[in-house]
Amino acid sequence: MNRVGVGVAAMVLGAAALAACGAVLADDRPKGPEEDGTKPALTRIAGEAMMNSHAYEYLTELSDDIGSRVTGSPAERKSEEWGAAKMKAIGLENVHLEKYTIWKGWTRGTAEAQLLSPTPHKLHVDAMGWTGSTVAGGAEGDVATVNLFDIDEEVKNVSRLKGKVVLVTQSGRPKKSFMLLFATFGDFLKAAHDAGAIAVIGGQGGSKSTGMNLTHTGILGFDVDFAIPVVSMTAEDQGQLERLIARGITPRIRINVQNTLTSGPVETANVVGEIRGREHPDQILVVGGHLDSWDLAQGTTDNGSGTATTLGAAEAIVRSGQKPRRTIRFVLFTGEEQGLDGSFAYMKQHAAEIQNHVGDLILDEGQGPVTDFMLGGRDDLIAAFQPFAASLGNLRTIKVNDKVESGTDTLPFSIAGLPGINMNQDTSDYKYTHHSAADALEAQKPDVLTQNTTLMALTAFWIADRPERLASPWPAERTAKMLRAQGEYEELKAFNIWPFGDLGAGAEPPVKH
Ligand SMILES: [Zn+2]
Repeated sequence: MNRVGVGVAAMVLGAAALAACGAVLADDRPKGPEEDGTKPALTRIAGEAMMNSHAYEYLTELSDDIGSRVTGSPAERKSEEWGAAKMKAIGLENVHLEKYTIWKGWTRGTAEAQLLSPTPHKLHVDAMGWTGSTVAGGAEGDVATVNLFDIDEEVKNVSRLKGKVVLVTQSGRPKKSFMLLFATFGDFLKAAHDAGAIAVIGGQGGSKSTGMNLTHTGILGFDVDFAIPVVSMTAEDQGQLERLIARGITPRIRINVQNTLTSGPVETANVVGEIRGREHPDQILVVGGHLDSWDLAQGTTDNGSGTATTLGAAEAIVRSGQKPRRTIRFVLFTGEEQGLDGSFAYMKQHAAEIQNHVGDLILDEGQGPVTDFMLGGRDDLIAAFQPFAASLGNLRTIKVNDKVESGTDTLPFSIAGLPGINMNQDTSDYKYTHHSAADALEAQKPDVLTQNTTLMALTAFWIADRPERLASPWPAERTAKMLRAQGEYEELKAFNIWPFGDLGAGAEPPVKH
């Protein structure tokens, strides 16, 4: 249809709409791709994504040729160049790096431990990220336990830990949520160090390892480092220590951990490329995953999979020849593993255009099939999203909810009152590969990656192309209330990233006993 034709049709439709106001209102129900005009484009994009995807090739290159990518490390910096080169080759516009710094850099050295008595043998440990070192050559000490579920009391009682190797256990029932325990665990680590403890055995938030003979590294707060060495120990070794202690036997351990923290900030960068919108190029949907990873393996599932999915989705849309109404901005964030630093930096650097953002769409739950769209607090969008989710039924059944995902690059968008949409996944394998030595290419099934890539491409295009803008930022008070109602207040406050002061107070859920 030519432009004059469109204009005439619009006038006729407008007159009809005025004449039949009731009918228009009745037709206010949300429309999916069948009715909103996006389906022909989506069908082409799905074809490209399913039949022509290079996502698995991208993931193979990233895993085998670059490997682990700790934020600020030479390998991570190399991956930025790799990501930008891929974006250019795919045909994205405005491809560039957006530099920022994180507070400190960290390099893993060695971590060794031996059980000296009662039954001498090697213990399998790896250092947690951004933690310190023992004295050179290591130290020896008896094992003393602290109960994570009683961590508030343990913090007050650290003098007994002088000269001990601290083993974090979990007995009884937790009195607060995992994320709150996580935050308090940081206070405990500082106190234990000041009290003269040698080292701490415990994972993220004091958790115990999962899987056969695996350790799981990770950060212990948002942008925090700890002088005390903290190590993740395999469940098998830790289990033996716990059983000995339960029988009244005090294990004695030798432990030697050597890591290096930089004295100041280190540079890193988010990788950005766009498909510009054909009608509203100023309106932006961010689509991405994170490029940085931990360093015990290749960082395939956390979050090479999200990186490859993002690049594959961009490629499918570009190759389909379809142009969305609004701009899709593909972003490979870095610094995610240190506290969502890349996405927080993005919000700062783009503060002037956040009002023009429609939301962000992130895949960062590993290698499994997508199960849910978590709309990041925006309950008002569920009805609009349902018909779209239903249209994906031939690919996969995907549920829609309004939950906030605070553990990845969705959170800064949710804090801005935008839908930080998390493409939640089946994590039955991810719990083993997460931050462990098993996070390698073997963990990702190509067909699942292709399907997730297709789903991301379709979701990104539908949001960017549907006739009506999906979302604008909520005002701060509504956002603060929503975050409180979703139980985020205490956690964000404990991690020093609650930005709303007293705003929205009283919206917290009732305390569960
Ligand atoms: Zn991740």
